[in-house]
Amino acid sequence: IKKVAVFTSGGDSPGMNAAIRSVVRTCAFYKIECVGIYRGYEGMIEGDFKPLTARSVKDIINKGGTFLKSARSDEFRTKEGRKKAYDALVAENVDALVVIGGDGSFTGALIFNEEFGFPVMGIPGTIDNDIYGTSHTLGYDTALNTVVDCVDKIRDTASSHNRLFFVEVMGRDAGHIALNVGVGAGAEEILIPEEDLGLDRLLESLRRSKQSGKSSSIVIVAEGDKTGKNVFELKDYVEENMEEYEVRVSVLGHMQRGGSPSCFDRVLASRMGVKAVESLLEGKSNYMVGLLKDEIVLTPLEQAVKGKSEIDHELIRVSDIMTT
Ligand code: ATP
Repeated sequence: IKKVAVFTSGGDSPGMNAAIRSVVRTCAFYKIECVGIYRGYEGMIEGDFKPLTARSVKDIINKGGTFLKSARSDEFRTKEGRKKAYDALVAENVDALVVIGGDGSFTGALIFNEEFGFPVMGIPGTIDNDIYGTSHTLGYDTALNTVVDCVDKIRDTASSHNRLFFVEVMGRDAGHIALNVGVGAGAEEILIPEEDLGLDRLLESLRRSKQSGKSSSIVIVAEGDKTGKNVFELKDYVEENMEEYEVRVSVLGHMQRGGSPSCFDRVLASRMGVKAVESLLEGKSNYMVGLLKDEIVLTPLEQAVKGKSEIDHELIRVSDIMTT
Protein backbone atom coordinates (compact mmCIF):
# COMPACT_ATOMS: atom_id res chain seq x y z
CA ILE A 1 0.00 0.00 0.00
CA LYS A 2 1.43 3.34 -1.10
CA LYS A 3 -1.47 5.73 -0.89
CA VAL A 4 -4.34 5.86 1.58
CA ALA A 5 -7.47 7.97 1.21
CA VAL A 6 -9.37 9.11 4.30
CA PHE A 7 -12.90 10.54 4.43
CA THR A 8 -15.79 11.26 6.78
CA SER A 9 -19.32 10.16 5.97
CA GLY A 10 -22.83 10.29 7.45
CA GLY A 11 -23.51 12.46 10.50
CA ASP A 12 -20.50 14.37 11.82
CA SER A 13 -19.19 13.98 15.35
CA PRO A 14 -16.54 15.62 17.54
CA GLY A 15 -13.25 13.78 17.20
CA MET A 16 -13.51 13.19 13.45
CA ASN A 17 -10.87 15.85 12.81
CA ALA A 18 -8.58 14.25 15.37
CA ALA A 19 -9.04 10.89 13.60
CA ILE A 20 -8.23 12.39 10.18
CA ARG A 21 -5.14 13.95 11.71
CA SER A 22 -4.08 10.63 13.14
CA VAL A 23 -4.54 8.79 9.83
CA VAL A 24 -2.58 11.47 7.98
CA ARG A 25 0.26 11.54 10.50
CA THR A 26 0.49 7.74 10.66
CA CYS A 27 0.80 7.66 6.86
CA ALA A 28 3.54 10.30 7.11
CA PHE A 29 5.28 8.26 9.82
CA TYR A 30 5.37 5.19 7.56
CA LYS A 31 6.29 7.36 4.57
CA ILE A 32 3.25 6.58 2.49
CA GLU A 33 1.02 9.12 0.78
CA CYS A 34 -2.35 10.23 2.09
CA VAL A 35 -5.22 12.07 0.41
CA GLY A 36 -8.35 13.49 1.95
CA ILE A 37 -11.65 13.02 0.16
CA TYR A 38 -14.07 15.91 0.65
CA ARG A 39 -17.81 15.33 1.29
CA GLY A 40 -17.74 11.55 1.78
CA TYR A 41 -18.87 9.26 -1.01
CA GLU A 42 -20.20 12.21 -2.98
CA GLY A 43 -16.71 13.73 -3.23
CA MET A 44 -15.26 10.30 -3.99
CA ILE A 45 -17.52 10.02 -7.03
CA GLU A 46 -16.58 13.54 -8.14
CA GLY A 47 -12.85 13.06 -7.50
CA ASP A 48 -12.77 15.81 -4.89
CA PHE A 49 -9.38 14.85 -3.41
CA LYS A 50 -6.64 16.78 -1.68
CA PRO A 51 -3.16 15.52 -0.78
CA LEU A 52 -2.63 15.76 2.97
CA THR A 53 0.72 15.98 4.68
CA ALA A 54 1.54 15.95 8.38
CA ARG A 55 1.43 19.77 8.31
CA SER A 56 -1.98 19.95 6.56
CA VAL A 57 -3.63 18.68 9.72
CA LYS A 58 -2.16 21.12 12.22
CA ASP A 59 -4.53 22.93 14.57
CA ILE A 60 -7.48 20.60 14.04
CA ILE A 61 -7.22 18.14 16.95
CA ASN A 62 -9.34 20.50 19.08
CA LYS A 63 -11.97 21.34 16.45
CA GLY A 64 -15.47 19.83 16.32
CA GLY A 65 -17.07 18.71 13.06
CA THR A 66 -14.94 17.54 10.15
CA PHE A 67 -12.81 19.77 7.95
CA LEU A 68 -13.18 17.25 5.11
CA LYS A 69 -16.97 17.84 5.36
CA SER A 70 -19.48 15.05 5.44
CA ALA A 71 -22.34 14.19 3.12
CA ARG A 72 -24.89 11.55 2.28
CA SER A 73 -24.71 10.25 -1.29
CA ASP A 74 -27.60 8.53 -3.03
CA GLU A 75 -25.46 8.03 -6.12
CA PHE A 76 -23.05 5.80 -4.19
CA ARG A 77 -25.98 3.48 -3.49
CA THR A 78 -26.03 2.69 -7.25
CA LYS A 79 -23.57 0.44 -9.08
CA GLU A 80 -22.85 3.21 -11.61
CA GLY A 81 -22.07 5.65 -8.82
CA ARG A 82 -19.65 3.23 -7.17
CA LYS A 83 -17.94 2.56 -10.52
CA LYS A 84 -17.39 6.31 -10.92
CA ALA A 85 -15.89 6.40 -7.42
CA TYR A 86 -13.61 3.47 -8.25
CA ASP A 87 -12.40 5.15 -11.45
CA ALA A 88 -11.69 8.38 -9.57
CA LEU A 89 -9.67 6.50 -6.90
CA VAL A 90 -7.68 4.58 -9.52
CA ALA A 91 -6.94 7.81 -11.41
CA GLU A 92 -5.59 9.24 -8.14
CA ASN A 93 -3.52 6.05 -7.49
CA VAL A 94 -5.29 5.45 -4.17
CA ASP A 95 -4.99 1.86 -3.00
CA ALA A 96 -6.78 1.77 0.37
CA LEU A 97 -9.60 3.59 2.18
CA VAL A 98 -10.17 4.69 5.76
CA VAL A 99 -13.82 5.59 6.29
CA ILE A 100 -14.83 7.49 9.42
CA GLY A 101 -18.59 7.24 9.92
CA GLY A 102 -21.52 5.15 11.08
CA ASP A 103 -22.93 1.82 9.99
CA GLY A 104 -24.44 3.20 6.75
CA SER A 105 -21.00 4.38 5.71
CA PHE A 106 -19.52 0.99 6.64
CA THR A 107 -22.17 -0.82 4.59
CA GLY A 108 -21.22 1.31 1.58
CA ALA A 109 -17.53 0.47 2.13
CA LEU A 110 -18.27 -3.27 2.37
CA ILE A 111 -20.24 -3.26 -0.87
CA PHE A 112 -17.45 -1.27 -2.53
CA ASN A 113 -14.87 -3.78 -1.33
CA GLU A 114 -16.95 -6.68 -2.58
CA GLU A 115 -17.30 -5.15 -6.03
CA PHE A 116 -13.78 -3.83 -6.57
CA GLY A 117 -11.58 -5.58 -3.99
CA PHE A 118 -10.53 -2.24 -2.55
CA PRO A 119 -9.01 -2.55 0.97
CA VAL A 120 -11.14 -0.67 3.54
CA MET A 121 -10.88 0.10 7.25
CA GLY A 122 -13.60 1.72 9.33
CA ILE A 123 -13.35 4.10 12.26
CA PRO A 124 -16.66 4.52 14.15
CA GLY A 125 -17.63 8.19 14.28
CA THR A 126 -21.08 9.00 15.65
CA ILE A 127 -22.29 10.53 18.90
CA ASP A 128 -24.96 7.84 19.35
CA ASN A 129 -22.51 5.06 20.35
CA ASP A 130 -24.75 2.62 18.50
CA ILE A 131 -22.04 0.53 16.84
CA TYR A 132 -21.19 -3.05 17.70
CA GLY A 133 -17.52 -3.83 18.36
CA THR A 134 -16.57 -0.75 20.35
CA SER A 135 -17.47 0.48 23.80
CA HIS A 136 -17.09 4.07 22.58
CA THR A 137 -17.61 5.67 19.18
CA LEU A 138 -15.83 8.92 18.37
CA GLY A 139 -17.82 11.88 19.63
CA TYR A 140 -19.88 9.96 22.16
CA ASP A 141 -17.89 11.09 25.20
CA THR A 142 -17.94 14.71 24.05
CA ALA A 143 -21.69 14.54 23.46
CA LEU A 144 -22.23 13.11 26.96
CA ASN A 145 -20.32 16.03 28.48
CA THR A 146 -22.18 18.57 26.36
CA VAL A 147 -25.57 17.14 27.25
CA VAL A 148 -24.85 16.74 30.96
CA ASP A 149 -23.79 20.39 31.03
CA CYS A 150 -27.08 21.44 29.40
CA VAL A 151 -29.13 19.36 31.80
CA ASP A 152 -27.31 20.89 34.77
CA LYS A 153 -28.33 24.32 33.49
CA ILE A 154 -31.91 23.23 32.98
CA ARG A 155 -31.94 21.88 36.54
CA ASP A 156 -31.08 25.36 37.87
CA THR A 157 -34.17 26.86 36.29
CA ALA A 158 -36.31 23.79 37.05
CA SER A 159 -35.62 24.02 40.77
CA SER A 160 -36.08 27.78 40.88
CA HIS A 161 -39.61 27.42 39.51
CA ASN A 162 -40.62 24.01 40.87
CA ARG A 163 -41.00 22.65 37.41
CA LEU A 164 -40.83 19.32 35.70
CA PHE A 165 -38.68 19.29 32.57
CA PHE A 166 -38.74 16.79 29.74
CA VAL A 167 -35.39 17.02 28.01
CA GLU A 168 -35.14 15.34 24.62
CA VAL A 169 -31.68 14.09 23.69
CA MET A 170 -30.39 12.44 20.51
CA GLY A 171 -30.78 8.69 20.06
CA ARG A 172 -33.34 7.35 17.56
CA ASP A 173 -32.34 3.73 18.00
CA ALA A 174 -29.99 3.82 20.97
CA GLY A 175 -30.42 5.11 24.49
CA HIS A 176 -26.74 5.34 25.47
CA ILE A 177 -26.70 9.14 25.65
CA ALA A 178 -30.03 9.28 27.50
CA LEU A 179 -29.10 6.59 30.02
CA ASN A 180 -25.64 7.90 30.85
CA VAL A 181 -26.68 11.53 30.99
CA GLY A 182 -29.72 10.54 33.04
CA VAL A 183 -27.48 8.94 35.64
CA GLY A 184 -24.81 11.64 35.37
CA ALA A 185 -27.25 14.51 35.76
CA GLY A 186 -29.48 12.80 38.30
CA ALA A 187 -32.66 12.53 36.23
CA GLU A 188 -35.88 11.27 37.78
CA GLU A 189 -36.73 9.02 34.86
CA ILE A 190 -34.97 8.02 31.65
CA LEU A 191 -36.94 6.96 28.58
CA ILE A 192 -34.91 4.98 26.04
CA PRO A 193 -35.62 3.05 22.81
CA GLU A 194 -34.41 -0.25 24.27
CA GLU A 195 -36.94 -0.50 27.10
CA ASP A 196 -40.64 0.11 27.31
CA LEU A 197 -41.26 1.15 30.90
CA GLY A 198 -44.81 2.23 30.18
CA LEU A 199 -46.53 5.51 30.91
CA ASP A 200 -47.99 4.26 34.19
CA ARG A 201 -44.54 3.76 35.60
CA LEU A 202 -43.61 7.29 34.58
CA LEU A 203 -46.58 8.78 36.43
CA GLU A 204 -45.99 6.57 39.43
CA SER A 205 -42.35 7.59 39.58
CA LEU A 206 -43.20 11.28 39.30
CA ARG A 207 -45.83 10.94 42.04
CA ARG A 208 -43.36 9.17 44.29
CA SER A 209 -40.79 11.86 43.67
CA LYS A 210 -43.30 14.60 44.51
CA GLN A 211 -44.34 12.81 47.71
CA SER A 212 -40.74 12.42 48.77
CA GLY A 213 -40.46 16.18 48.85
CA LYS A 214 -38.81 16.94 45.53
CA SER A 215 -40.01 20.20 44.08
CA SER A 216 -38.55 19.82 40.62
CA SER A 217 -37.69 16.96 38.34
CA ILE A 218 -35.92 16.15 35.11
CA VAL A 219 -36.96 13.37 32.76
CA ILE A 220 -34.51 12.51 29.97
CA VAL A 221 -36.21 11.31 26.79
CA ALA A 222 -34.26 9.71 23.91
CA GLU A 223 -35.67 10.66 20.49
CA GLY A 224 -36.70 7.08 19.79
CA ASP A 225 -38.20 6.26 23.19
CA LYS A 226 -40.82 3.56 23.28
CA THR A 227 -43.75 5.38 24.92
CA GLY A 228 -45.25 6.09 21.49
CA LYS A 229 -45.45 9.78 22.43
CA ASN A 230 -43.02 12.55 21.56
CA VAL A 231 -41.83 14.93 24.29
CA PHE A 232 -44.62 17.41 23.67
CA GLU A 233 -47.28 14.71 23.85
CA LEU A 234 -45.62 13.44 27.02
CA LYS A 235 -45.90 16.91 28.53
CA ASP A 236 -49.64 17.03 27.70
CA TYR A 237 -50.14 13.54 29.07
CA VAL A 238 -48.44 14.30 32.38
CA GLU A 239 -50.22 17.64 32.78
CA GLU A 240 -53.57 15.94 32.16
CA ASN A 241 -52.84 13.26 34.73
CA MET A 242 -50.92 15.21 37.35
CA GLU A 243 -52.14 18.69 38.08
CA GLU A 244 -49.40 19.28 40.63
CA TYR A 245 -46.73 19.65 37.97
CA GLU A 246 -46.01 22.55 35.65
CA VAL A 247 -44.20 20.91 32.76
CA ARG A 248 -41.68 22.37 30.32
CA VAL A 249 -39.99 20.79 27.35
CA SER A 250 -36.46 21.30 26.08
CA VAL A 251 -35.28 19.70 22.84
CA LEU A 252 -31.50 19.92 22.73
CA GLY A 253 -31.10 19.17 19.01
CA HIS A 254 -27.97 19.58 16.93
CA MET A 255 -25.89 21.35 19.55
CA GLN A 256 -25.27 17.84 20.88
CA ARG A 257 -23.17 17.06 17.82
CA GLY A 258 -20.96 20.13 18.03
CA GLY A 259 -18.15 21.44 20.14
CA SER A 260 -14.52 20.81 20.82
CA PRO A 261 -13.83 17.08 21.37
CA SER A 262 -13.13 15.91 24.93
CA CYS A 263 -9.65 14.69 25.79
CA PHE A 264 -11.01 11.15 25.78
CA ASP A 265 -12.26 11.50 22.19
CA ARG A 266 -8.98 13.06 21.03
CA VAL A 267 -6.94 10.24 22.51
CA LEU A 268 -9.35 7.61 21.17
CA ALA A 269 -9.23 9.18 17.68
CA SER A 270 -5.42 9.21 17.76
CA ARG A 271 -5.27 5.55 18.78
CA MET A 272 -7.86 4.46 16.22
CA GLY A 273 -6.18 6.29 13.32
CA VAL A 274 -2.84 4.61 14.05
CA LYS A 275 -4.46 1.17 14.25
CA ALA A 276 -6.43 1.71 11.02
CA VAL A 277 -3.35 2.60 8.95
CA GLU A 278 -1.10 -0.02 10.55
CA SER A 279 -3.73 -2.71 9.91
CA LEU A 280 -3.94 -1.73 6.24
CA LEU A 281 -0.15 -1.91 6.02
CA GLU A 282 -0.32 -5.42 7.52
CA GLY A 283 -2.55 -6.36 4.59
CA LYS A 284 -5.80 -6.40 6.57
CA SER A 285 -9.09 -5.18 5.12
CA ASN A 286 -12.81 -5.05 5.97
CA TYR A 287 -12.36 -4.34 9.66
CA MET A 288 -13.56 -1.67 12.03
CA VAL A 289 -11.21 -0.32 14.65
CA GLY A 290 -12.81 -0.24 18.08
CA LEU A 291 -12.14 0.12 21.79
CA LEU A 292 -12.92 -2.89 23.97
CA LYS A 293 -11.71 -3.19 27.58
CA ASP A 294 -9.39 -0.26 26.92
CA GLU A 295 -7.67 -2.03 24.05
CA ILE A 296 -7.81 -1.00 20.42
CA VAL A 297 -9.09 -4.05 18.57
CA LEU A 298 -10.42 -5.01 15.14
CA THR A 299 -13.94 -6.28 14.48
CA PRO A 300 -14.94 -7.51 11.00
CA LEU A 301 -16.87 -4.66 9.35
CA GLU A 302 -19.73 -6.99 8.55
CA GLN A 303 -20.12 -7.87 12.22
CA ALA A 304 -19.88 -4.20 13.20
CA VAL A 305 -22.73 -3.43 10.81
CA LYS A 306 -24.95 -6.39 11.71
CA GLY A 307 -24.30 -6.61 15.44
CA LYS A 308 -26.28 -4.59 17.92
CA SER A 309 -24.67 -2.43 20.57
CA GLU A 310 -26.33 -3.43 23.83
CA ILE A 311 -27.55 -1.00 26.42
CA ASP A 312 -25.89 -1.31 29.84
CA HIS A 313 -28.53 -3.04 31.96
CA GLU A 314 -26.51 -2.65 35.13
CA LEU A 315 -26.65 1.10 34.60
CA ILE A 316 -30.45 0.95 34.35
CA ARG A 317 -30.43 -0.75 37.75
CA VAL A 318 -28.08 1.90 39.15
CA SER A 319 -30.40 4.59 37.84
CA ASP A 320 -33.39 2.93 39.54
CA ILE A 321 -31.53 2.83 42.84
CA MET A 322 -30.45 6.47 42.52
CA THR A 323 -34.03 7.68 42.14
CA THR A 324 -35.46 6.05 45.25
P1 ATP B 1 -25.01 8.16 11.02
O1 ATP B 1 -24.77 7.19 12.14
O2 ATP B 1 -24.69 9.52 11.34
O3 ATP B 1 -26.36 7.98 10.37
P2 ATP B 1 -24.05 6.67 8.78
O4 ATP B 1 -22.69 6.38 8.27
O5 ATP B 1 -24.86 5.49 9.25
O6 ATP B 1 -23.90 7.76 9.89
P3 ATP B 1 -25.79 6.99 6.47
O7 ATP B 1 -26.47 8.20 5.98
O8 ATP B 1 -26.60 5.81 6.82
O9 ATP B 1 -24.85 7.47 7.67
O10 ATP B 1 -24.72 6.52 5.35
C1 ATP B 1 -23.79 7.42 4.81
C2 ATP B 1 -23.61 7.15 3.34
O11 ATP B 1 -23.12 5.81 3.14
C3 ATP B 1 -24.89 7.20 2.50
O12 ATP B 1 -25.25 8.51 2.14
C4 ATP B 1 -24.50 6.38 1.29
O13 ATP B 1 -23.75 7.15 0.37
C5 ATP B 1 -23.57 5.32 1.90
N1 ATP B 1 -24.37 4.09 2.10
C6 ATP B 1 -25.18 3.78 3.13
N2 ATP B 1 -25.78 2.60 2.94
C7 ATP B 1 -25.35 2.15 1.74
C8 ATP B 1 -25.61 0.98 0.93
N3 ATP B 1 -26.45 0.04 1.35
N4 ATP B 1 -24.97 0.88 -0.25
C9 ATP B 1 -24.12 1.83 -0.68
N5 ATP B 1 -23.85 2.94 0.01
C10 ATP B 1 -24.44 3.11 1.19
